[in-house]
Amino acid sequence: MYTVRFYKGDYFDRQQQANADGCAAYAEHHFNSSENTAAGYAVVIVGSNASQTSRNWGRWYAAAVAREFGIPVGGDAGILVGGYNGRGDGNLRHTSMPAVLLEPLFASNPQHAAWIRSDDGQSRLARILSESVQRFFQSGGLIGFSVGHKYKASSPNDRGAPVLGGGTEADFAEKVLQKAKVMIEAAEAVGAGRTIRVMHGDTLLWAGSADEDADVTLDPVRGLLRIAGAAPVVTRIGGAAPAARRRRTAGR
Ligand SMILES: [Zn+2]
Repeated sequence: MYTVRFYKGDYFDRQQQANADGCAAYAEHHFNSSENTAAGYAVVIVGSNASQTSRNWGRWYAAAVAREFGIPVGGDAGILVGGYNGRGDGNLRHTSMPAVLLEPLFASNPQHAAWIRSDDGQSRLARILSESVQRFFQSGGLIGFSVGHKYKASSPNDRGAPVLGGGTEADFAEKVLQKAKVMIEAAEAVGAGRTIRVMHGDTLLWAGSADEDADVTLDPVRGLLRIAGAAPVVTRIGGAAPAARRRRTAGR
């Protein structure tokens, strides 16, 4: 249903290739960095000519990262239209499909750097990106990925910002995108209904369905996740998860 293709070369050339291939969506992955090591928020850049779909996709992704890691969103409710004073705009502006430039975490923030460097943190970011693609591009198609900084013909040694503790922005961004490619290409067709999941790290413990209108609340004191209303027709617990879901949590 989905195919993911990585684009290389200078940013303009990547976008031209994605246009020629008819990509349904395009995502470039970076990590943020600041001299202030306390800076730490999730933000997504969209082009100065971004469509409403690009803006909504970027905001959905930034908000999901913020909830996942317990951090704030930056920019205008999670997005910066046209980049940081124009920086980043050229990475996206030449696409003819919805496009985002992801800056989910800060390489310069000690806690964020630990997430960036960990396999678990990379998987959590990849899953959010994968889910965002499934949510916003439900018809499937070709998804274009671009590793920020890396593989530029004009600057082949650029790897972006150093990550505290070792490694570079570009190399970790590439790991996240590779994980996301596996998840997206394994994703099933988007079905009707609403799925509620319980996850431990990146491992699915339970999945069930809920009415679209049902209130779902967590009582952290009682340790209770409650889905209001009548019990769903189908409930899947642990090993009873269907093969498609098991495949998404295994085989990473
Ligand atoms: Zn960057």
